[in-house]
Amino acid sequence: MTTSEELFEKAKTLIPGGVNSPVRAFRAVGGSPIFIKSAKGPYLYDEDGRQYIELINSWGPMILGHAFEPVEKAVRDAIQHSFSFGAPTRKEVEMAELITSMVPSVEKVRMVNSGTEATMAAIRVARGFTGRDKIIKFEGCYHGHGDSFLIAAGSGAMTMGVPDSPGVTKATAADTLTAPFNDLAAVEKLLDNNHNQVAAIILEPVVGNMGCVLPEPGFLEGVRSLCDQHGALLIFDEVMTGFRLAKGGAQERFGITPDLTTMGKIIGGGMPVGAYGGRAEIMNIVSPVGPVYQAGTLSGNPIAMSAGLAMLHHLNDHPEVYTRLEEIGTALVTGFQAGLQKVGLNYTINHIGSMFTLFMTDHAVSNFTEAKTCDLPLFGRYFHAMLKRGVYLAPSQFESLFLSVALTDALVAQIIQANEESLQEAM
Ligand code: PLP
Repeated sequence: MTTSEELFEKAKTLIPGGVNSPVRAFRAVGGSPIFIKSAKGPYLYDEDGRQYIELINSWGPMILGHAFEPVEKAVRDAIQHSFSFGAPTRKEVEMAELITSMVPSVEKVRMVNSGTEATMAAIRVARGFTGRDKIIKFEGCYHGHGDSFLIAAGSGAMTMGVPDSPGVTKATAADTLTAPFNDLAAVEKLLDNNHNQVAAIILEPVVGNMGCVLPEPGFLEGVRSLCDQHGALLIFDEVMTGFRLAKGGAQERFGITPDLTTMGKIIGGGMPVGAYGGRAEIMNIVSPVGPVYQAGTLSGNPIAMSAGLAMLHHLNDHPEVYTRLEEIGTALVTGFQAGLQKVGLNYTINHIGSMFTLFMTDHAVSNFTEAKTCDLPLFGRYFHAMLKRGVYLAPSQFESLFLSVALTDALVAQIIQANEESLQEAM
């Protein structure tokens, strides 16, 4: 038995499924999860001393690679001044200033502790601002585990076969309307049938949580204009895409201005953080200025702010990071495509910047239904073949990969080689 296997056996007796977040349990791919001991740059190291090339990067935050020195130093410096004050700090002001300068649609921002908190707060604000109850989300999009979002949810919920979770009341579920991603006509119909009742449309502008799914040309523009016509707010959930697809996130990349934006992952540099923000007029409804209540003991935590600030300053000051991420993404996808061709498979790869997914299906994947056409047993075999070759992928077909700038050309070549061999082995 490996140390990871021993730990997992023990963990299962103490923690539901042995893990603190479902996808980590490897249920979708079979086998026992590897327990991570440390990480540096492009590598993860497990409890058994094995090294893996990172293609998840903590599901997004480690865009600069693990233990990136300026972030590490910022945390070391910060802990000398204690860990939490539950009172305002200079760093929160600096963080708000940096976020609002990098994401211009965000005029005011509130820090929270996770992406889930950010999206929960954002829809509360949208409801408070519009005086309406319903929201529209898209099938296969994941916005954290808030009750309102566990309706046709992607990511782990989709992987575990529980896109609609028991425990969410019927009344809550009834206020969440769903449409297929990339289907503007369906959105329009929902808005017409629920006239003056929809507070907000929330979406991942590029979906990461049913695998990587891109908006079709005109889709984001169409949703923006439907929101305007119907008096609903547009919420971009940029927990994954923020500071990754561009300095200003997907909204910069696609040139669409949402009313509210939710953020997480990268803004904490790997520490637990989320944030939501938007037009000042809307954010001023939040307590203590306005009546919409939202709070947090650890919100704006000084250690998390320090890590996040070091990360965001680096991204803000080094636009070449984004150029390099594009290069790495393109090189990997080109290599993966060549690998597919060599082994005679016509599978789909969706790609943008440093996010991509190899879908084990011949279908184009532009929504949840199409994502579900994948050959999941084949994905499981492929996943383990890659792991054996030292490449750590997301342990589910319904996730995007997240690249970091720590990947060198030599590592890219190694991953491409592993992909080809793994496809052969898995078939
Ligand atoms: N929104 C999106 C788009 C996400 O991808 C996630 C998590 O992966 C969340 C919200 C929830 O964030 P957290 O896991 O930090 O609660």
